[in-house]
Amino acid sequence: MLSVTFLGTSAARPTVERNVSAMALVREGETLLFECGEGTQRQMMRYGVSFALSEIFFTHFHADHFLGLIGLIRTLGLQTRTEPMVLYGPKGAKKLLGQAIQLGVERVPFEIEIRELKPGEVVQRDAYDIWIFGTEHGGGSVGYALREHERPGRFDPDKARAAGVPEGHLWGKLQRGETVELADGRKVSAEGIVGPKRPGRVIVFTGDTRPCAAVVDAAQGADLLIHEATFGEEEKERAKETGHSTAREAAQVALAAKARRLVLSHVSARYSISADELVKEARDVFKETVVAKDGMTIEVPFSD
Ligand SMILES: [Zn+2]
Ligand SMILES: [Zn+2]
Repeated sequence: MLSVTFLGTSAARPTVERNVSAMALVREGETLLFECGEGTQRQMMRYGVSFALSEIFFTHFHADHFLGLIGLIRTLGLQTRTEPMVLYGPKGAKKLLGQAIQLGVERVPFEIEIRELKPGEVVQRDAYDIWIFGTEHGGGSVGYALREHERPGRFDPDKARAAGVPEGHLWGKLQRGETVELADGRKVSAEGIVGPKRPGRVIVFTGDTRPCAAVVDAAQGADLLIHEATFGEEEKERAKETGHSTAREAAQVALAAKARRLVLSHVSARYSISADELVKEARDVFKETVVAKDGMTIEVPFSD
């Protein structure tokens, strides 16, 4: 299971309908939080996102992306949490997040580590990696691409039987790509019995950015591209001036990256109630587009 739940989809300030930026990614029971705008903890409660998380990833330090950390840390402290937590962000994370977690007179009863990341770095995991790429929003902002490792190819039981491999532990070995030895001493390799390796899933989260080549590169073949779309076409000059993207620009990035699906988020307050205009402008360029809403969950299945 791999899904994302949008906790806040409004740019710069909250509205009645939308809170400021935050998104929970849930993979095989593990929850990762991306951004933590003001009020995120309450959104987590509303939309059933687990507080048992150990990592939060920040794209940059405009206040609408991280003020919620102050309160979330206090609540986790009240829950007598003891597990350590790691906060990731670009240059400046140590100073800004360091201040945020110290604000308030309560003592935080668990350890918090802050790691600064540079574009090109990779946070490695057993089953996936998180790639960090540079974005164009000023001040060394970054985006994140979660890339699952390749999966083993499909095992064909008929072919295994035909090759004389009896059902049992030898099948398991073949499935793992190993060569097995039969009772008569014959060796059978996995090739031909197990198909080619299959790709894992890819989710790309841009944070605030102008459309840029680094995002196109990072999002190559992505199953899901979550791109900011603060403005519509009529404000494209403003998007340029403020380091943001229009819905149409986000769609052009998705098209250039050959992504499967595009989700627009971080929309200006004027689209708070209806973002139909943004969706329409984006779909003219890239059909598989939706605009995020607070509380929306999107599942990401394997492509095969
Ligand atoms: Zn923002
Ligand atoms: Zn920003």
